[in-house]
Amino acid sequence: LKCVNDSRLTPTRTTMDVEKVFHMTGGVGVTSYAQNSSLQKKASDKVKHITLDTIQELYLTTTPKSLGIADLGCSSGRNTLSIVRDLVDIIVGTSRRIMQTSAPPEFRVYLNDLPTNDFNTIFKALPDFFRELRRATSCESTPSPSIYIAGYPGTFYGRLFPDKCLHFIYSSNSLHWLSKVPPALYNKQGRSINKGCIYLSRSSPQMVSQAYFKQFQEDFHLFLRSRSEELVTGGRMVLIMLGRSDLDHFDRGNAFLWELLTRSFKILVSQGEVEEEKFDAYDVHFYAPSKDELEDEVRREGSFEMNRLEMFEIDKEVGEGASYGTAVATAVRAIQESMLCHHFGEEILDNLFEHYGRLVDEEMAIEEIRPITLLVVLSKV
Ligand code: SAH
Repeated sequence: LKCVNDSRLTPTRTTMDVEKVFHMTGGVGVTSYAQNSSLQKKASDKVKHITLDTIQELYLTTTPKSLGIADLGCSSGRNTLSIVRDLVDIIVGTSRRIMQTSAPPEFRVYLNDLPTNDFNTIFKALPDFFRELRRATSCESTPSPSIYIAGYPGTFYGRLFPDKCLHFIYSSNSLHWLSKVPPALYNKQGRSINKGCIYLSRSSPQMVSQAYFKQFQEDFHLFLRSRSEELVTGGRMVLIMLGRSDLDHFDRGNAFLWELLTRSFKILVSQGEVEEEKFDAYDVHFYAPSKDELEDEVRREGSFEMNRLEMFEIDKEVGEGASYGTAVATAVRAIQESMLCHHFGEEILDNLFEHYGRLVDEEMAIEEIRPITLLVVLSKV
């Protein structure tokens, strides 16, 4: 893992640029996102039937000859191409069985993520992906479909694609990331008002939850506005993201997992491995909205009709050998490593996530932690 630690420059967060720094751990090694994204896969799989129903219905009502699909926050690893495969399969099947046409549409698939995402790992997997797809979809009477896949680096908080070139937008496990750490978290001296915490916690001042909420509103509005210009009328979006179950920010869901990372940091601070000031200056650019908050933003922005809004939990069994805590720790590490490394340096990571895995297991023994996921289906009016 290579990282540039700018710790000598300043203990404040003003130098952290999400667009330049944030990425899931690349490659296919033991700490990579590719190897540590089974929890995310479980979440998107749990609602996959809804994703597939949505694109099928869209196809049947609009029957485009060239179908534009975007996956926003695609990352790299098997989750990226497996959803593309499922979307293509359902449309090819639908065009043959229901439409009874010999030629499925051509597919334009745009894979988006931030510029430092490991797009190369996806591209390297394409030859096998195409070979396998051709094998599975060609039959005697009809050729296999034409699929054109491209990488689109950039932030989804803003325009990414030309006017009305898309029919279907998919985003899973990505929209809980804000465009930046809310600037309102920092006072005039550039110091965090959320001292001693890395996300919303019970001890955070009221201004902290307001700052996070306001950043979410601004970002999600911009997201919806940008997508509304890129989608054709009647186009659909399926958005899957972490959220929370009620108005309280501090349920034993996603916020609690950050709370446990905070506690792990405090152990390192108490052992002198991390400077307290440095820890105080670190906050995550994450927000878990409630159903109501999402719904309000969709209504306020006005370009989309909400077809569905659901909340679900994923089952927590993990594979042989690993404890749940260890699985959560490696997953969170693959997600947070780029930011932590940039702020604190690489040396603290092994220790930090060892404490974290243990704390997650200890807490699970007391009471379950239930990360909540939201699913939203929208259509462009
Ligand atoms: N969709 C995949 C990956 C989810 S990980 C899956 O379900 O497994 C979340 C991804 O969102 C990361 O790769 C991260 O870089 C990306 N992401 C976060 N903020 C983003 C932004 N503003 N624009 C584009 N991608 C973003």
